[in-house]
Amino acid sequence: MPQRTTTILRLNALGIEDALAASASPGSLLLEVSDAEAFGPATLAGLKVLAAGSPALVDRHPAAARAQVRNLEGKVLIPAMVNAHTHLDLTHIGPRPFDRASGFMGFVQTVREHRHSDAGAIEASVLEGAARLLAGGVVAVGDIAGAVKGKPSDAAHRSLAKTPLWGVSFVEYFAIGAMERAACDWIEQFAGDFDNAETPPGSRLRVGLQPHAPNTVSPAMYAMGVDLARRRGWPLMTHLSETAEELEFVGQGLGPQRAFLERMGLWEDRILEDIGRGRTPVGHVGAILDAARFAAVHVNYATDTDIETLALTETPVVYCPRASIYFEVDQQFGPHRYGDMMRAGIPVALGTDSVINLPGGKVDWAAPWREAITKRAGVVKGASEDTDGQATAMSVLDEMRTLYRRDALDGAVVLGMGTMDGARALGLDPLAFTFKRGASIAGVVAIEVDQKRWAAEHWRNIDRIMLGSERPELLYIGK
Ligand SMILES: [Zn+2]
Repeated sequence: MPQRTTTILRLNALGIEDALAASASPGSLLLEVSDAEAFGPATLAGLKVLAAGSPALVDRHPAAARAQVRNLEGKVLIPAMVNAHTHLDLTHIGPRPFDRASGFMGFVQTVREHRHSDAGAIEASVLEGAARLLAGGVVAVGDIAGAVKGKPSDAAHRSLAKTPLWGVSFVEYFAIGAMERAACDWIEQFAGDFDNAETPPGSRLRVGLQPHAPNTVSPAMYAMGVDLARRRGWPLMTHLSETAEELEFVGQGLGPQRAFLERMGLWEDRILEDIGRGRTPVGHVGAILDAARFAAVHVNYATDTDIETLALTETPVVYCPRASIYFEVDQQFGPHRYGDMMRAGIPVALGTDSVINLPGGKVDWAAPWREAITKRAGVVKGASEDTDGQATAMSVLDEMRTLYRRDALDGAVVLGMGTMDGARALGLDPLAFTFKRGASIAGVVAIEVDQKRWAAEHWRNIDRIMLGSERPELLYIGK
């Protein structure tokens, strides 16, 4: 075993903020840093919090006297963030405007047409997405490893495991109607192959399963996923109650989703044994949520009973605010009920969903990360070659800012959604996304704030972060 190299590091900043209790201006963070190595613009290392808060408080720690000091003037420290739901293997498609005329089914068609099936191309897309996460101050992800030619595939998982990202790569499957039998074999085969494959050493990434959604996976095939995941300790995620098309299909057995299945030759009348019974999507999968812990993504439509079901089954929700805006779902369902969910005790995490529904950017923030990631992954071909040339950051900070400004949320609450609740949704330790004394943490982010524009005393640093547009700088990534 090589000797662990440990140093004490002190960061002095304009302020420090997390979702627990660390809120100080000015603020300092005292870390025990072990086995540090350079990774792009950041340092990759074991990170243990010794003290966090006001400089006077940090001074009192016995190790403070021998700390190396780094000053970050004009910047506020926050924990590294969690993007709890995205599709990195779609990054090469780039941002696209929503076509209202073709609706959600038109979007599905775009994804089907442009999804890669070649492992090298999938890897390039996933690594590009990973670079954009790190550029957005995100170190943990709930990524969906899309099916390849309809079959579950761990190509995206294998690519993502080469990056320093934490989190879960949820392998997605579709299984309804005429494809159920084949899907069953494919899922079994995937699980068997995966059991025999080697996990890359040092990876913080786990594999999980994602039955796609209630309109594409039958209850029996959800149950199969639950069974497989339970035997292996894999986490589970599913899209749930996302669109009006899903609501109509599950409740009435009608609409564009049924037409789609008929067109694909997948419709069978026995599907009506499960759907078309007036249930909401959450009601439809209630027993499944009770049988295993899922993270439910979107939940754009939720009745009071649905919220009760999610609370009783301890199902965390991943809300993707900008995706909901992009698909104009609030015009059909009204405002998202994440506030009611939180009041019912449901953790609500944040996700960006895929790059397709995000706005394009002008500055290529991801460039230094792209280089570091491709080098580490040993990829010769630049990960950016297939991409849109726009530097769309995939940061939950932009989701937080959207909610803070639209709904006048408390800054610390919204920071919790993008850090601790994200960890809860992915089965990670929430304390790894705080500055709690003694915690081994997943990373440190600095954000410059405009002190002149928001000078008044009532603007706390957390408010200045949420009101501003400065990009997050990922300084440290936890090993
Ligand atoms: Zn999704």
